[in-house]
Amino acid sequence: MTQPSIPFDPRTTREYRELGFKIVKCPVCGKETLDDYFICPTCGWEYDGTTEENVYSSCNKATIVDYRKTKEILLCVQNGN
Ligand SMILES: [Zn+2]
Repeated sequence: MTQPSIPFDPRTTREYRELGFKIVKCPVCGKETLDDYFICPTCGWEYDGTTEENVYSSCNKATIVDYRKTKEILLCVQNGN
């Protein structure tokens, strides 16, 4: 199973164009995502306004630091490394 590698552009989403979401930088992966509990398409982080790396995010059930670690492991598994 291969994932399409089209870069996510938040400007093309309905959330941005019609629903008033704002473009923000994902605190986990640094890519552009949207605010207001939008789920980052790159890493899956739900944007709940958490920007402090060691503050627990109940939406994501982890701190940014911990989430990033989990994600690294998952990405490694997916890539077969
Ligand atoms: Zn992200």
